[in-house]
Amino acid sequence: MSLPSIKVARPGPQAGHVYLVGAGPGDPELLTLRGARLVQGADVVVYDNLVSPAIVGLAPESAERIYVGKKAADHTLPQDEINRLLVRLAGEGKRVVRLKGGDPFIFGRGGEEMEVLVEAGVTVEVVPGVTAAAGIAAYAGIPLTHRDHAQSVVFTTGFLKDGALDLDWPMLARPGQTLVIYMGISRLAEICDQLVAHGLPATTPAGVVERGTTAAQRVVTGDLATLAERVKGAGIRPPALTVVGGVVGLYPRLAWFAAEADEAAHPPHAGCTVVHGPAR
Ligand code: SAH
Repeated sequence: MSLPSIKVARPGPQAGHVYLVGAGPGDPELLTLRGARLVQGADVVVYDNLVSPAIVGLAPESAERIYVGKKAADHTLPQDEINRLLVRLAGEGKRVVRLKGGDPFIFGRGGEEMEVLVEAGVTVEVVPGVTAAAGIAAYAGIPLTHRDHAQSVVFTTGFLKDGALDLDWPMLARPGQTLVIYMGISRLAEICDQLVAHGLPATTPAGVVERGTTAAQRVVTGDLATLAERVKGAGIRPPALTVVGGVVGLYPRLAWFAAEADEAAHPPHAGCTVVHGPAR
């Protein structure tokens, strides 16, 4: 891929440095130009399971590609081993690009990795990425804020370190706010119940987007009373993002992205709003 020649003062990747690069939520075209430039100049690319193969494929043929992907409860490489690996590669004088899904500093453990690198005296640059909330909301036609529906947005996680779902429910259940829940699919029923128990009407629109921004994107919508059942019926699996709030009600009118979801692999569930359509 050749890149538009935008005049930039900063050089490409430097030997012995680590670049924490956000790869965006799925569609490889959502990678930043800075991210693409760094991958193209990398000696080694260390990447997670949510990173598009097309982005890893931008690395030079000579570059080493190291997969350290992890899913909740199925860690391919423990975090401290990833940290040690990055420190070692930088110490060998490599140009290291650490590719992470979405944005490195949003539920991506980028902060933890950077702390270790800085502690070890390694120079780090962070390149933001389109976080799942922004990318998925855009592709699903769910504006995260809207003057009629939401004046604030909250990003939270449904997967805590110790497995407990001990969130600040009164804050999450505030009206006039859009709530985006990362990694919450396995606890969806509990999350919806808690939001209702803390004051959100059971009729509050809510939706789940599976593999958003990719050709396999699927959207299931409902409200806090119906969503968990519908999502279960549709067989939605991670990665999936949950959005709660009045803005989800705009989805039927604003959905513009037609994914190429495989109907055989993902049969639509009766009663669900599932987007299937032609390839982009
Ligand atoms: N750093 C990432 C988030 C990593 S946590 C970011 O900024 O986006 C992983 C969670 O992100 C997943 O469990 C899911 O909730 C969400 N996610 C990431 N990519 C997604 C996608 N393409 N579709 C739906 N959810 C996604």
